[in-house]
Amino acid sequence: MNWLMRAVTRGKDDEMADEHSRTDEDWRKILTPEQYHVMREAGTEPPLTGIYVDTEDDGLYRCAACGNELFRSEAKYHSGSGWPSFYETAGPDSVETRDDGSHGMVRTEVRCARCGSHLGHVFEDGPEPTGLRYCMNSIALDFEAE
Ligand SMILES: [Zn+2]
Repeated sequence: MNWLMRAVTRGKDDEMADEHSRTDEDWRKILTPEQYHVMREAGTEPPLTGIYVDTEDDGLYRCAACGNELFRSEAKYHSGSGWPSFYETAGPDSVETRDDGSHGMVRTEVRCARCGSHLGHVFEDGPEPTGLRYCMNSIALDFEAE
């Protein structure tokens, strides 16, 4: 395959690529090193350090990597955990969850349903009406005031 063929093939791949199939190299260009650590390596920002811990403004929290609508300010509450907390997602398809047995704990990981980026965890000690606590990393969110 000559260089031209390769270029054409690569162009096709780009068109077909959705956020789920981005490479690590792509993500490193899109995200800051801190975001990359949390969102692609399932890291956790230190408690009380995130910019949205105490935010009470009305608006929408989007995925910092792909812009997917994740949470609305109406569902945000003060959990005292040191991370922004929500009792429900913006929509039924906002996030996907999976079992996470890392760090010797049994937790449920929360990922963006559109791009697969790690966002945080969900626990069953939240307030009514859902009883859920979506414990998010501020750095994985992008707040849009309304
Ligand atoms: Zn996303």
